[in-house]
Amino acid sequence: MTFFQHSKICLLPELYEPSRVFPRQNRWKIHSILRICAAALLVCLVTVGRESHAAGRPAPLARAEAAVIRLARGDFAEAAREARAGLQETPDSPTLNMLAGAILLNTGDAKGAQSVFERASKVTPNAALAHFGRGLALLARGDRKGALQCFDKADQFGGDRAHILLARRYAQWLNGAQVALGEAGLSDGFVPAQRALEGMTAFRRGNRQKAIAELEAVHAALPGNSVTQPGGLLMQFEAAKPLLSAAPRLPANHGLITAAPERSLSGSIQLEPDNVGASATYAAFDLDGKTLGLVNQRPFTYVWDSRTAPNGWHTLTVTLFDRNGAEMGKTTRRVRTFNAGVIESEDEERTEQLQAALWQALTLRPDRCACAYTLGQAYRANGDLPQARRWFLRAAALQPNYKEVRAQLAATGGLNAPAAAIWGGLPSEKVVALTFDDGPKPGMTEPLLEILAKERVPATFFVIGRHISDYPDLARLIVSAGMELANHSYTHSNLTRLSEDQVARELMQTQAAIQAATGKTPRFVRPPGGNWNNKVAEVARQWGLTPCMWTVDVYGSEVVGAQQVADAVLAQVRPGSIILMHNGKMSTLQALPTILRELKKRGYAFATVDTMARRLSAAKAAERAAALRNADPNVRRIE
Ligand code: ZN
Repeated sequence: MTFFQHSKICLLPELYEPSRVFPRQNRWKIHSILRICAAALLVCLVTVGRESHAAGRPAPLARAEAAVIRLARGDFAEAAREARAGLQETPDSPTLNMLAGAILLNTGDAKGAQSVFERASKVTPNAALAHFGRGLALLARGDRKGALQCFDKADQFGGDRAHILLARRYAQWLNGAQVALGEAGLSDGFVPAQRALEGMTAFRRGNRQKAIAELEAVHAALPGNSVTQPGGLLMQFEAAKPLLSAAPRLPANHGLITAAPERSLSGSIQLEPDNVGASATYAAFDLDGKTLGLVNQRPFTYVWDSRTAPNGWHTLTVTLFDRNGAEMGKTTRRVRTFNAGVIESEDEERTEQLQAALWQALTLRPDRCACAYTLGQAYRANGDLPQARRWFLRAAALQPNYKEVRAQLAATGGLNAPAAAIWGGLPSEKVVALTFDDGPKPGMTEPLLEILAKERVPATFFVIGRHISDYPDLARLIVSAGMELANHSYTHSNLTRLSEDQVARELMQTQAAIQAATGKTPRFVRPPGGNWNNKVAEVARQWGLTPCMWTVDVYGSEVVGAQQVADAVLAQVRPGSIILMHNGKMSTLQALPTILRELKKRGYAFATVDTMARRLSAAKAAERAAALRNADPNVRRIE
């Protein structure tokens, strides 16, 4: 089969104008061109049916729909998988390219996003969403001028007004402009971003009271709890780093950027079978298994308008028949078509829904960390250190490496002084520290507190930060019962397997959640599963946390029964023991009254880890002082 670009070998171009030659109905049409050509020839054409191009493979829209559902859930890896599968079949689908752009922007690849949005805008030059997405990608890459031009184009082609207005104002704010959106009348979903822009503008102008009011309102209006980011594209209010993607980058082989359509067919294509035998009588032309047309006039040339097929890969077949209708030969070619402005689907409703979902995926939201940090600065400037501490702590929980947040926290008294790990108390004192890990847990924390209160026994609760976010009332109950709260990470992950930044986030999210619920700033941390290494130790130290280990661990007995728990504790306990139990094990709850009674009978007193650590360091200091006093005054000591 030989292809000719129709524009080069022009055969009766006015006749092959698509709407006349290929009426969009499923019926045969006998088309006579006798009146134009001298020879008598008949060309039989069958129209390209609506369904023909989708035959035998999932439509790009179905892939895109599956992907946007995952996108809305924040499952970017799965969304990318669907989009990639769709792009393999239809690499030039504007919807799939815009979808790829939304995924890439949301996972921090602005450069990749820019290229796919550009691709989409070449296919459909009037797609507002493609221009808007390209604008956001440029904004993320620091090209504010280019971004504003794209937002103008998106506006010109009827893009979503609220999204465009917000993006424009944000770009202008980054340019140093005073921005007001107060009268814009945006819908509820845009309120946090709107108020963040107002607050940041007020702070820039030195109006701290307004900044505080607006930025605190941002925190109240954002979805989710105070120590997690809202997700999506986050406005960082930093010219050097304007947009932050809450989701991690996709692996490099994401396959969302497909090769440019250099060798694609476009416009009208003249098809001609090769090696036509003398007895050939007619040729049949098929696209993706559906008949395009039959030609019974040598050299069996057929002109196919590639604009009637969606952009992407297709299978073209030409079959030659003899006068008896017997097949003489068949040639099949995979071809890729690319035509600007080709309609992707005639299902307007589906396309519109998809576009709406993609606009949604490109919603700008304020970065909770940037707002918290600015609140910390505003309160610090006002001399309100407790509030400043509170907000810097939240900023640190969200992004521990954000600007000078650790220094700010230290300067406002938000970091404890870290010490060496504690493994136990003084061996000379009959004191033990009871510690309960993994709480709080509704239904298990309350009865545990009742038993401890009844026996007037203090204890330390190493809580999981996420549980505190979920049950802040239980955190307050623990504190009001006179117990100590301590840090057991936010998600109970193995901290040794995380990056330093992730470890810091685990620890500080828990600190911030506890602070938000109770006003307390824990001093001690216990690593989940006891997984600990130098890196984790260093991060904990940097953030003012002292590791607390244990000398008695009864986990093996907790999974067996109450009697075994009591036996294990009472067999292993020594003066200065730190006893590790769990808030959530029924066996421990049932064993506790026995343990407390028996320990008291043996003359033990109880202390929180904090009290035990203070007595230990006081004793060590006294020992050092005594050693200094007793030392030979003529011997110089180097401490
Ligand atoms: Zn644990």
